[in-house]
Amino acid sequence: MSGNYSFQTKLLHNRHKFDEGTGAVSVPIQHASTFHQKEFDKFGSYDYSRSGNPTREALEEAIAELEGGTRGFAFSSGMAAISTAFLLLSKGDHVLITEDVYGGTYRMVTSVLNRFGIDHTFVDMTNLHEVALNIKDNTKLIYMETPSNPLLKVTDIQGVVKLAKANNCLTFVDNTFLTPALQRPLELGVDVVLHSATKFLSGHSDVLAGLAVTKDEELGNRLYALQNSFGAVLGVQDAWLVLRGLKTLHVRLEQSSKSAKTLADFLQKHDLVEKVYYPGLTDHPGYAVHSYQTDGPGAVLSFELKNEEAVRQFVNRVKIPVFAVSLGAVESILSYPAKMSHAAMPREERYKRGITDGLLRLSVGLESVDDLIADFTEALQAVEQSVFI
Ligand SMILES: *Cc1c(COP(=O)(O)O)cnc(C)c1O
Repeated sequence: MSGNYSFQTKLLHNRHKFDEGTGAVSVPIQHASTFHQKEFDKFGSYDYSRSGNPTREALEEAIAELEGGTRGFAFSSGMAAISTAFLLLSKGDHVLITEDVYGGTYRMVTSVLNRFGIDHTFVDMTNLHEVALNIKDNTKLIYMETPSNPLLKVTDIQGVVKLAKANNCLTFVDNTFLTPALQRPLELGVDVVLHSATKFLSGHSDVLAGLAVTKDEELGNRLYALQNSFGAVLGVQDAWLVLRGLKTLHVRLEQSSKSAKTLADFLQKHDLVEKVYYPGLTDHPGYAVHSYQTDGPGAVLSFELKNEEAVRQFVNRVKIPVFAVSLGAVESILSYPAKMSHAAMPREERYKRGITDGLLRLSVGLESVDDLIADFTEALQAVEQSVFI
């Protein structure tokens, strides 16, 4: 029905634009856990809410359409979506996974899957040669995250998909940082798209949710069976919150991305900033690949100050962003990977990956970019006075 509309319009005008029964312009929240069956030997569309619920289904249909897939699945968190998708694997299988994968995924692969006989190898996914070299006979899955966290490294999705298909492997992409507004991996041949909908898709730092999308019918059926078996489904109030957030996804990301680019340019010119990581900068090593496979660089960037003391001074002075883990919200969020997302990683390992004690990650929100620049300018002045004299 909405096939010809642009992404922006599809966010609002889809099958759930209004409720057929009442005309209500917001998806009804169906709390029922069970559904009356009208005939003694036939089930209706719904029987039990773990297996299917109309509110959750509205979100599942919405994300499937936006990603260009056929089936969507909503989970209680991003990690529930990711963990359930990993259950497509079996004992004896091997996973090739990007070395700068999200911390929770790292934990799942290294401390849970390994106990079930599923082996893994971490690779620099930006290096296709290294990917090809590490595919084994029992490799069944190649797992990507692009741009990656926190250094915004860019993986050539089609390059990896080509290697995967030649070796009969599935491909997953964690699309949390860009959302289908900016990157649609299924169109590039990927098998499963995963999301922490906690971030940009819902967008207001007020709900935990995860999503998965497939295009292939048989794979969709297998993932549905796993969602129903494992049971980590999204509650209906939370499904409604994600649906509500989705309506403004395009306008939020457009505004935040524009500000992120302005801030990246500002930081790159500042004497006290050693390095800026943002795929919208022409000197970013992944700039060409990113520009080719996406519709924009997104709203997350990282930048490096001289050392931990400089970070301490900066964070103590800066006023607008909240200092917290997470990203993808209406308010700007500043985080310190060395002591937050990557605190568990040994220092040498962290440094080898470029995650220094001076690195900060910024998820740009909807504040005026002039206010953000004024705030950052003042905070950087404070750094200058205390650390560099
Ligand atoms: C937050 C995040 C996750 C995990 O999602 P939760 O909703 O916190 O479980 C996975 N991948 C990425 C890239 C994330 O940022």
